[in-house]
Amino acid sequence: MPPKGWVEINELYCKACETCITDCPQKVLALDMSRLSIKGYHPAYMAHPEKCIACGICSTVCPDAAITVYRGTPPGYEEKGAG
Ligand code: SF4
Ligand code: SF4
Repeated sequence: MPPKGWVEINELYCKACETCITDCPQKVLALDMSRLSIKGYHPAYMAHPEKCIACGICSTVCPDAAITVYRGTPPGYEEKGAG
């Protein structure tokens, strides 16, 4: 089963508040502790993209409107074992 959707996080707006991480029912998101955004925060990212159901909760709760949710199969996604 491919993921049902994916999110884009605008790192110019993300302030690493972790609200999206806490509220995502699928535990898709995490802070990327390996790097800093141009604003100096560890930005949220899709740690488990395969689990996203495109519910839109993360986008709704983000206080900085940093997240855009897309429905469908993520671009570039290739189902393992196909063919
Ligand atoms: S759309 Fe839903 S499942 Fe996907 S990352 Fe956001 S809160 Fe999680
Ligand atoms: S809720 Fe928004 S500002 Fe907070 S960590 Fe998630 S993307 Fe960043």
